[in-house]
Amino acid sequence: TKPPVVVTVTGAAGTIGYAALFRVAAGAMLGHDQPVILRLLELPAAIGAAEGIAMELDDCALPQLVDVQIYDDPRAAFDGVNHALLIGAKPRTKGMERADLLSANASIFAAQGAVLNDVAADDVRVTVVGNPANTNAAIAARNAPDIPPSRFSALTRLDHNRAIAQLSARAGVPVTAIDGVTIWGNHSATQYPDIFHARVGDRTGAQLAEDRTWLVDDFIPTVAQRGSAIIAARGASSAASAANGTIDHVQDWALGTPGDSWTSAAIVSPGVYGVPEGLVCSFPVRSNGTDWQIVEGLEINDFSRARIDASVAELQSEIAAVDALGDA
Ligand code: NDP
Repeated sequence: TKPPVVVTVTGAAGTIGYAALFRVAAGAMLGHDQPVILRLLELPAAIGAAEGIAMELDDCALPQLVDVQIYDDPRAAFDGVNHALLIGAKPRTKGMERADLLSANASIFAAQGAVLNDVAADDVRVTVVGNPANTNAAIAARNAPDIPPSRFSALTRLDHNRAIAQLSARAGVPVTAIDGVTIWGNHSATQYPDIFHARVGDRTGAQLAEDRTWLVDDFIPTVAQRGSAIIAARGASSAASAANGTIDHVQDWALGTPGDSWTSAAIVSPGVYGVPEGLVCSFPVRSNGTDWQIVEGLEINDFSRARIDASVAELQSEIAAVDALGDA
């Protein structure tokens, strides 16, 4: 049997954490033959809830779940971690300014980056889910100078999956007949779901995009604002689908993307596709099971260029706001 992999989940007692942990423990993320040690990191006030989740995990009697450990100390929780899922973040509360939110999260992710730098396993891979996810990942990465920046990524897989689901409904083809979709930019309302290189059953995304009214007034806003629509319908933000996106993201990163197909992930820009070096931006990516690789050479038309640039500008303004605070 394989040696166990250490997976640390922050914000483990939150709604996304709760939806993710059982599937991770059941082998949906790293494979059904991969033993897993789960570490749950929570704020002191949520340790009781984390203990309850650990009891439920025990009660599943899952064959690949070696141990469940609970921490309120990041240094202990990240010691020797192979996969860090950074889900916990400070939510925006009533009356909070955007700068306050950026500041609160910048200090959390700066501290976690520094601790990962000290104690994580040599092969650590870090997936940031907590918002603002791209900027939080950028801050964690720059506070971890000994970990290659390529080991940090932020989640846009939920957005990617939402785009595939919308295309499937529009074209009347199964999700398995769709490939070549890309989410560019920030995990926010400025994200750009690009279908110009997609295959949608017998058609191309470019053919579907000829209906510009549908593209501009329906498809793009439906994908970008899906989170708000779910809050309105459900009275709570998306959790199971966010957990599912997280699992898909780590699975593809760790086990590799199949064939020529690609997915979307926010990674540290090497300065391609007009995205300044160092920004954590969503790109079309493949994984060889170790590293994300950006799909290169895609032609970007003027329609796409303007939307990518707008989201990149937002990423730059987030980083500039954090830099102005001076504490991360
Ligand atoms: P959730 O589990 O619902 O969300 C966690 C984070 O994921 C939030 O930042 C949320 O952003 C973000 N997120 C990213 N994508 C999505 C998506 N598609 N839909 C919804 N959320 C998304 O939050 P809870 O409040 O239920 O739980 C958070 C937990 O984190 C709490 O248990 C808290 O104690 C813990 N925590 C831990 C910290 C730590 O370990 N240092 C620090 C702070 C909190 P958004 O707010 O924009 O919805």
